[in-house]
Amino acid sequence: MTDIKSMTLEELQQWVTKQGWPKFRAAQIRDWLLKGAADFDEMRNLPAELRARLKTSCYISVANIEKKLVSRYDKTVKYLFSFRDGECVESVLMNYHHGWSVCVSTQVGCKMGCTFCATGKSGFSRDLTPSEILAQIEAAQRDQNIRISNVVLMGMGEPLDNFDNVLRFLELAGDEKGLNIGMRHITLSTCGIVPKIRELAKRRLQINLAVSLHAPNDEIRRQTMPVAKAYPMDELLAACRDYFAATGRRVTFEYALIRGVNDSDAQARELGQRLKGLHSHVNLIPVNTVEGTGYQKSNVQRQQSFADILAGYGVTATVRRTLGSDINASCGQLRRKSINEGGK
Ligand code: SAH
Ligand code: SF4
Repeated sequence: MTDIKSMTLEELQQWVTKQGWPKFRAAQIRDWLLKGAADFDEMRNLPAELRARLKTSCYISVANIEKKLVSRYDKTVKYLFSFRDGECVESVLMNYHHGWSVCVSTQVGCKMGCTFCATGKSGFSRDLTPSEILAQIEAAQRDQNIRISNVVLMGMGEPLDNFDNVLRFLELAGDEKGLNIGMRHITLSTCGIVPKIRELAKRRLQINLAVSLHAPNDEIRRQTMPVAKAYPMDELLAACRDYFAATGRRVTFEYALIRGVNDSDAQARELGQRLKGLHSHVNLIPVNTVEGTGYQKSNVQRQQSFADILAGYGVTATVRRTLGSDINASCGQLRRKSINEGGK
């Protein structure tokens, strides 16, 4: 079966003409898909015969709601979605003053193995297709009857380890006839796969890049992030500098504060020293406790002190506001729990 929703217009045109139908049918099908049609029968302007053909050879990706947690404190909603093969991923919908933002997954699991991350701990299953990344946004939108204006690729998985599918997703999400989400409203978060950051920079898309740093030096970074063994911090920061030069987009660094691991004043100074002069912003996040890791959050004074020291180097840092703190089992935990309970 063909994943029709992941196809470009050109691919769809090829498919349609190969089946003996006129080319313009492709644009019709694509319009329906971009509008969120979940069934070929909805495509009323297509001949019945073509619809029948589509049904026997193609499928339309949808994200089915398996579980849903709604925060009692704010409007945050956390979803566990399943796809046609039964694999599940998590997405989180957040309400900010500027509108609705959704955090979507790009893979089922992750190969990168960061020690603090629930997703990393449950291993890798498969890449998501472009349409499956898109379907998470559409499902959340439909469920809450809202329009999502911002997307962050910060759910389960490493987006740059699923490069081609993520790029195709960006193209689909930006389509005016579909979700119409501008590249400036999309943020891609990576653990720091340097050659892929460079490849992304070459495309000169206007997307925002977030880089998970979580350490002031290679020694500490290698302890928590195996990817650091392949790509040292100097190379990573050079790639970030070049990303800014190529796109004009300021890079964001994610830094999860872990008590006694990466949160001392000396470590803040070391980080300040390294990031000085880089067009960037640091998001400090008190680490979410994941069962079995033994990591704990830094206390509020530590968080503030860390931010203040960075500011002294001209590096702007904010301690991230936590939305949906009552349901904020960090991404990957809902699926993990569901696996442990013998669910999907
Ligand atoms: N793989 C990508 C994107 C998904 S992870 C990446 O690593 O950037 C999204 C963000 O959540 C990353 O910044 C990641 O480092 C962070 N994260 C993972 N586990 C966390 C935890 N337990 N507490 C705080 N942040 C965490
Ligand atoms: Fe993968 Fe990101 Fe988790 Fe690391 S933090 S294991 S890269 S999802």
